[in-house]
Amino acid sequence: MRIDLITLFPEMCDTVLSESVIGRARKKGAVELECHQLRDFAFDKHKRVDDSTYGGGMGMLMMAEPIALCFEDLCESLGKRPHFIYMSPKGQVLTQKRVRELAGLDNIAILCGHYEGVDQRVLDELIDEEISIGDYVLTGGELPALVLTDSICRMIPGVLSDDLCFEDESHYSGLLEYPQYTKPSVWRGKAVPEVLLSGHHANIQQWRRENSLLETARLRPELLQSAELSEKDLKFLKSKGII
Ligand code: SAM
Repeated sequence: MRIDLITLFPEMCDTVLSESVIGRARKKGAVELECHQLRDFAFDKHKRVDDSTYGGGMGMLMMAEPIALCFEDLCESLGKRPHFIYMSPKGQVLTQKRVRELAGLDNIAILCGHYEGVDQRVLDELIDEEISIGDYVLTGGELPALVLTDSICRMIPGVLSDDLCFEDESHYSGLLEYPQYTKPSVWRGKAVPEVLLSGHHANIQQWRRENSLLETARLRPELLQSAELSEKDLKFLKSKGII
């Protein structure tokens, strides 16, 4: 999997993507991540990539041509056209389901907007998908692009130490993760649930499933509507008066 970020702040993106789990995954070649400076494709001597909006208004807008040139250059160097995503507060809000689907692609390019956003014509012409990270507005697309890149990368085999790391996590199966505990077994008088110290695998699995259901019911009850629930899950939720 290769992801190319098109941005006015490649150093910022590259710094974040060089740290921790994703940084190590890059080093060992599990994922390829490249950050491209959009200004390199500006065509005036001041390296301008933005201009005022037609119809008036306060802000500046990113111009179409540098973006098109940058994307075309990328397609040429890759020898293929990557799936092109624009990070936008108008896009579909990102979900774990979409992250999993995107992780199945070989090449993705992500455009980070800035200022008031991007000239609509280049979006209409080149963008395959607009993705939002939530119903609020940030100053630029870099943080959203990093969120998207991180979420996709950790689905790629070899990035995390074990695939179970993400299969057990919140949202993967439509539920939230069960509560977790580490040492000491008693902290300020609060003990870890006994079953987790028992070493009894089946009982621990059952406790985790039940507590995943309870956690979801407590924090995000609407998720239970679309989660895949077994007969046993439904019986448990009924016994707790949740459904
Ligand atoms: N004028 C735009 C609007 O009202 O829809 C907002 C532009 S915003 C100030 C600048 C850039 O930040 C956008 O082009 C986009 O790339 C990024 N951005 C801001 N909020 C975002 C969000 N919630 N999700 C994804 N990208 C976002």
